[in-house]
Amino acid sequence: MLRLRGKATQLSPAQIQALLFLQYARPGVCTIGGLAKRLSATYATASGVADALENKGLVKRKPLAEDQRIIKLILTSKGIHEVEGLEDVLKDIEVAVESLPQVDQQALLRATQSMVRQLQDAGHVQVYEMCWNCQFFQREAHPNDAQGPHHCAFVDAPLREAYTYLECPDFVSLNS
Ligand code: SF4
Repeated sequence: MLRLRGKATQLSPAQIQALLFLQYARPGVCTIGGLAKRLSATYATASGVADALENKGLVKRKPLAEDQRIIKLILTSKGIHEVEGLEDVLKDIEVAVESLPQVDQQALLRATQSMVRQLQDAGHVQVYEMCWNCQFFQREAHPNDAQGPHHCAFVDAPLREAYTYLECPDFVSLNS
């Protein structure tokens, strides 16, 4: 379904993956290096994907305020609109899953988690998760800092509440 949507909108599978990554990943990892990691591709390939998206007006490059040498990739409003279109495509799958009885939905969830875990262990997929179950997450470590009440020990920096709900490639499960 995504491939068909990509065909209609002239987006390659890598470009679709990149757009979804930029929508949901923690801003600190939305760089060419982060994209390369996400796509399991070389830096040059990821840079090419970013160039193509930039030429289509879906993404722009912006130096990081704290370190001008790091270039962030940001979705433009056109890019955000494109992501919404991509997600609409997946609604039919959501509806199909929701139509299953609860017991089947739970079995499907367990089976999917188990498959993903095995594929992760074998190195075929990289799982991106949110902060709340991460070993590096220190909840309310800065209670007086409204801009960053939590702390990430991996990057050793405060975390905004909103960022804790984004996907992060540096996530390490509390249970691992
Ligand atoms: S390393 Fe863990 S705590 Fe830090 S941003 Fe990523 S998921 Fe959150």
